[in-house]
Parts: sequence; C-alpha cells; structure tokens
Amino acid sequence: MAQKRDYYEVLGVEKGASQDEIKKAFRKLAKKYHPDMNPGDTTCEERFKEVNEAYEVLSDSEKKDLYDKYGHDGLDPNFGAGGFGGGGFGGFGADFDMGDIFSNIFGGGFSSSGGGRRGPARGSDIGVRVMLSFEEAAKGCRKDVTFTKTDACSECGGSGAEKGSHPETCSKCGGSGAVRVQQRTPFGIMQSTRTCDNCQGKGTVIKTPCKKCGGTGTERKSKTIEVNIPAGIDNLQRVVARGQGNVAPNGGVAGDLIVEVGIRPHPIFERDGYNVFCEVPISFAEATLGATINVPTLDGDYSYKIPEGTQTGTSVTLRGKGIQVLNSRTRGDLIFTVVVEVPKNLSETQKKLLREFEASCDDHNLSAKASFKEKIKNIFKK
Ligand SMILES: [Zn+2]
Ligand SMILES: [Zn+2]
Repeated sequence: MAQKRDYYEVLGVEKGASQDEIKKAFRKLAKKYHPDMNPGDTTCEERFKEVNEAYEVLSDSEKKDLYDKYGHDGLDPNFGAGGFGGGGFGGFGADFDMGDIFSNIFGGGFSSSGGGRRGPARGSDIGVRVMLSFEEAAKGCRKDVTFTKTDACSECGGSGAEKGSHPETCSKCGGSGAVRVQQRTPFGIMQSTRTCDNCQGKGTVIKTPCKKCGGTGTERKSKTIEVNIPAGIDNLQRVVARGQGNVAPNGGVAGDLIVEVGIRPHPIFERDGYNVFCEVPISFAEATLGATINVPTLDGDYSYKIPEGTQTGTSVTLRGKGIQVLNSRTRGDLIFTVVVEVPKNLSETQKKLLREFEASCDDHNLSAKASFKEKIKNIFKK
C-alpha cells in the first residue's frame, strides 16, 4: 500500500482544528467523493475511503491522541492492511460501512448496508467461574473446566449439509455473498452492495440440510477441557483459553473460553497480593521463656525460635515464604503474628503457684506495667 497521507491534509483542516471543523470538512468531502455519487470512478472511491479513514481517527479522541503523538504508526500495525482484525482497535480502516456514513451525512432515512465486505463473524466468548483452594491458586494447577458451548455439528462436521452432500455455490451471487442493487434517491439512481438474500452472504447454499443440526452446522455440547492455572493467580483474575469458546457460524474464528478464578478461604492463611498472613498461638510460658515454635507455611512447617519475653501481637516476616508472583520466580513473604494465650481453667495448685510467682515479680519484670503506673500518677498530679 502506498504511503498514507496526513489525516489533517486529507480533510483539509489545520492540526489544531476543532471537532466541529473536522466534522464539517468530513461531511463536505464525503459527499463529494461518495462512490454512489461518482459511479465507476475508482479515484473517487479511493478518496472516499481516505476521507472516511481520516475522520474515523480524528473524530475519536483516543485515536486522535495516538495519531497526534505517533502518526500513522501509533494506530495499529495492521492498520489498513486489508484484513479485519475482528474487534478491538485495529482494522477499522478496512471495515467501514457505507450505510452508516451515508445516513450520517444525509440525516438517515435509508441505509445501504455494505454487505459482502466483512469476513465471517467471530464466535462469541464463554465465561466460566472456577473455584480454587488457597493452595491451588498459590502454587498453580491444572483444572478441568466443564462448560456448554456451540460446537461444530458432529454429524456434518460443521458444513450443515447432509452427510455425503456438500454446500453448493450460490447461483444468485456466484459465491461472492453480495449482490449489487439500484436505488432511486433524491440524488438520482444509486448503486450499492447488499448481502445476498439467497445465501445470507455465505456464498453457498445447502440443498439437503443435515438432519441433526437442520443446516446450521452447529450444535450445543457440554465440553470439559483442562486449563492451566498459573501459580500466583488471585481472586477475580482470568485465564483465557484461546479458540475454546463458541464456534462461529459460516466458518469464522471461534471465540475464547474465559475462566475467572475464585479462591476459597483458608482456615489459617489470609492473602494480600503475594503476601500471606497468619496468627500463631503460643503459651504464656513459651512467650516468657522463649521457645522454638512451628510456623505453618505453604511449604510445610517452618521451625522458628522466638526469644525470651516475646509480647503478644509481635509480627515476624519470613522473606520469600509467601506466594509466587505471577509469571515470575520471586515470591512474597509470610508474615505471622504471635498471639499469647492466657491460660484458663487453672486448678487450685496452679493458681497458688501463679500467685506466688506474681508476688515475686518486680517492676523490672513488668516494665510496661510499671511505666504505665508512673504515667497515671503524673496525670493526676497536674
Ligand atoms: Zn449437521
Ligand atoms: Zn448468494
């Protein structure tokens, strides 16, 4: 394809032109070059496409921004290459609809749909939700996903024609899927292209339809596929299985299966991003004397030595013991909080021992309590 002209130049407006000026310029030029006003003039048709393409970009603030910054390259690598990418940002230059533009210019009233230009529609996507355990999400897994989809008919293989027969080329459009029609309008007789009504644009007709699918070539099927769930995936994140969605009628590309993940709560662990949190209960004596405790992690118990005099609520971070970061080898942290359990249901003997122990304590043993007492005293002095 030849070097593209500057879009502002195409519309004949200044670079800082307002949306109003851009619209006005477009309407004037689109009217002037419209193929139905200039039947058979290929130069006009080219101009018309160019004008339309320029307007598509300059009237859309997002595309205009990209174009202003990066020029034609900023829009899409496949831009104008002729193939319609099927949704998203690309290919809009190749898929303009004359009907839309025409009614846009002349205020509607009739439409001449540009039939036969598009490729077959893409199949639709299917969304399913899959529940994972905490560990499955953290470590990744392979998961069987069962869903219902529109698939190719198992009897005719998707052709829609009875076994042993084949779809035949449409006699009305000769296989192109489009027919030219003439229309009387205030501007004279106009020619436009329409989807062939004999074959609905498919270009082929089925003489003997398949008995199973009635000629549609599709059937609803329950399907189970194994989906690879990557380690580190989080709640509401999605995995896409390309081409596993509904098949398209007329041989288009199949849609995708979109698997949205839900994670069941864990009895011990909580998750925030790639970090894992948990509480570890320890006894009053362990906290006082120090002890080696077992901390649960995703890789099993981890032995950790808590020092003498560990207070309740103390948090410890174990680096790299959390969840694997999605598409990476690094891991988050495990942060555990020590909770000192106050003993209950003591026997008389235990109580007696504890009272004796309490009596033996001085301010040096319970420094927080001592300094608190001191602070209270000072409040009332004032
Ligand atoms: Zn069939
Ligand atoms: Zn036809």
